[in-house]
Amino acid sequence: MSSSDQKVALVTGAARGIGLAVARKFLSEGWRVALLDIQGALLEDAVARMDAADRTLALTCDVSDAAGVADAMAAVIARFGRLDALVNNAGIAVFKPLLETSDAEWSRVLDVNLSGPFLCTKAAAPAMREQGGGAVVNITSISGLRASTLRAAYGTSKAALAHLTKQLAVELAGLGIRVNAVAPGPVDTAMAKEVHSPAIRADYHDTIPLNRYGLEEELAEAVFFLCSDRASYITGQELAVDGGFDAAGIGLP
Ligand code: NAD
Repeated sequence: MSSSDQKVALVTGAARGIGLAVARKFLSEGWRVALLDIQGALLEDAVARMDAADRTLALTCDVSDAAGVADAMAAVIARFGRLDALVNNAGIAVFKPLLETSDAEWSRVLDVNLSGPFLCTKAAAPAMREQGGGAVVNITSISGLRASTLRAAYGTSKAALAHLTKQLAVELAGLGIRVNAVAPGPVDTAMAKEVHSPAIRADYHDTIPLNRYGLEEELAEAVFFLCSDRASYITGQELAVDGGFDAAGIGLP
């Protein structure tokens, strides 16, 4: 296979956590990977440690900045000449009671978690259309599947992203573009360390049938599958990778 035939993935929020594991999974499967993150220094360091300079591209960008996203997409095409998969993983979490959630926090959560995937998908679709197709995976959350306290902004942003997934699956099917979502249960990343209090950790432990947090690599497997040709007839779906939390149907406080 010549290098121009090697598939290309763009992963947002790839400097650490689930996004970094997803980027590593694509690399291990022989793909070329553009890693995008708002934290430039962290991203450069993560990419340097991958030791795959010929197959990686680091892009410092805020997914909620339309002009920055357009520039990043142009850089992907200039470097790799194609785009086969987009993983909209960049996200932020605010876990606060309604009365303590500022208007600015509400807006920022929606900008990053919902408008970010909208802007990135809009920027990626023309290249995918030209190639005859592609795959998009949006990273949602079990907080969008179930309502609970503290997550008015976060849970709403993820539920809206799940619906955007269905909307775009239907709309882009004619272009050969599949759009799916992966809804992680709790994963012990930097984000979780910031917003999961001991009480939240205990609640998750009690309500998850597999009785543990998920691993970043377990999320990456599901994301990669949905982007691969093995999922060629799957579009518009949200796959919960959550240790059985959703199936158990037990709500969090
Ligand atoms: P993380 O905070 O460890 O990583 C998120 C990455 O996104 C960071 O590198 C951050 O710099 C980047 N990012 C944040 N805002 C950005 C922006 N505006 N533009 C570009 N990059 C930006 O978090 P994580 O736990 O790995 O989360 C990844 C995704 O999984 C998020 O969408 C999150 O909501 C979702 N998720 C996580 C959990 C969990 O328990 N960790 C559970 C459900 C869903």
